[in-house]
Amino acid sequence: MSFDLLGLSAPLLRAVHAQGYHEPTPVQRQAIPVILKGQDILAGAQTGTGKTAGFTLPLLERLMGSRPRTGERPVRALILTPTRELAAQVGESVATYGQYLPLRSAVIFGGVSINPQIEKLRRGVDILIATPGRLLDHVGQRTVDLSSVEILVLDEADRMLDMGFIHDIRRLLRLLPEGRQNLLFSATFSDEIRQLASGLLEEPVMLEVARRNTAAETVTQIIHPVDRERKRELLSFLISSRDWRQVLVFTRTKHGANRLATQLESDGIGAAAIHGNKSQGARTRALADFKSGAVRVLVATDIAARGLDIDQLPHVVNFELPHVAEDYVHRIGRTGRAGCEGEAVSLVCIDEDRLLRDIERLLKRRLPKEPIGGFEPDPSVPAEPILQGRRGAPARQDGRRNQGGGQRQNSGRRSGGAGTRGSSHTQKV
Ligand code: AMP
Repeated sequence: MSFDLLGLSAPLLRAVHAQGYHEPTPVQRQAIPVILKGQDILAGAQTGTGKTAGFTLPLLERLMGSRPRTGERPVRALILTPTRELAAQVGESVATYGQYLPLRSAVIFGGVSINPQIEKLRRGVDILIATPGRLLDHVGQRTVDLSSVEILVLDEADRMLDMGFIHDIRRLLRLLPEGRQNLLFSATFSDEIRQLASGLLEEPVMLEVARRNTAAETVTQIIHPVDRERKRELLSFLISSRDWRQVLVFTRTKHGANRLATQLESDGIGAAAIHGNKSQGARTRALADFKSGAVRVLVATDIAARGLDIDQLPHVVNFELPHVAEDYVHRIGRTGRAGCEGEAVSLVCIDEDRLLRDIERLLKRRLPKEPIGGFEPDPSVPAEPILQGRRGAPARQDGRRNQGGGQRQNSGRRSGGAGTRGSSHTQKV
């Protein structure tokens, strides 16, 4: 099926063709006609499915159709994202797909000066892409007016809830006018998401494109068993001996990400770390250097890497397995995208046996184990508990995310109340 049949007008088709896209992806095929009709949607779609163009293209088309001929430029479309990186990426997509249209967009997130954002808003924007916290700062300062929003997009809504943004979202929803179109995208459908959706969406069209774990099927996945103390050595060996040029490596903690990046550097392998404690400037720079090939390895935590759009990433390495099995699927979704070959390698030590079992249960299959000669684990090494963060709080037993692991730890706006069930004693994993 061609893009030309979806009901998009010439300037949008031109932008799509300029990107080299020949065919719409399944989420685009399903979502574009529905959004063009003005209906609400509830879409189960992960990053990597082409969902951004799936909502951006029809959103731009609709804004063109309802464009005020004269006068001011009120914000008519609001796209909320959980992370700064995702906001920046969606902002880039809006600019790319809208390049032949006379619409203006702005991206708003925290960690950078608010003044240029205020200036941009003052000049007028049609489409606003924002993270909830900074947008509320603008609301507080009365530098943004959301009373003319016609289309709201909640992108990666599940992650927004995971990160404790529900109260921010509800506050923002109260500022939006009635009768708008609402588009909710989420990789998973928890009860919380359903509850949010039922209060927000009117007679939504439900779309489920790639089922939750199918992204994993296009990626070659291998486990290399190794001792905990030799992981870094093995990683350096793999990168050098296999001549990997662009590798995204995941650690469980910010501290671990920093330490590993430094160690790789001392092994002569260019590396940068990206996580929530880094300044926005440092994160943007690290990502740009990684994309351009200036650094070979990007070491990231789960939250920081969420939504990163790095085209055709050939290698993802789990230096440490995540506590939440679903994060494994998100991690390896960074590779093998849009039909490209990808490889996901996990360096697994004896402490992580239970985490590996959880992942295999979620994937409903065993992952192949392949020890690397010279790095075979020593069977006499006993398992140790996995500690979480620098304070050394033991990991939760129940596989749920600890509150406070998100980006906005110090913001004071986070929803509290998550229990610490299962974290009151040290555990064997
Ligand atoms: P997303 O799921 O929106 O993060 O998109 C994932 C990747 O797919 C991005 O790098 C897009 O540039 C790319 N993409 C989006 N739509 C298409 C398409 N129709 N054909 C090929 N690639 C696409």
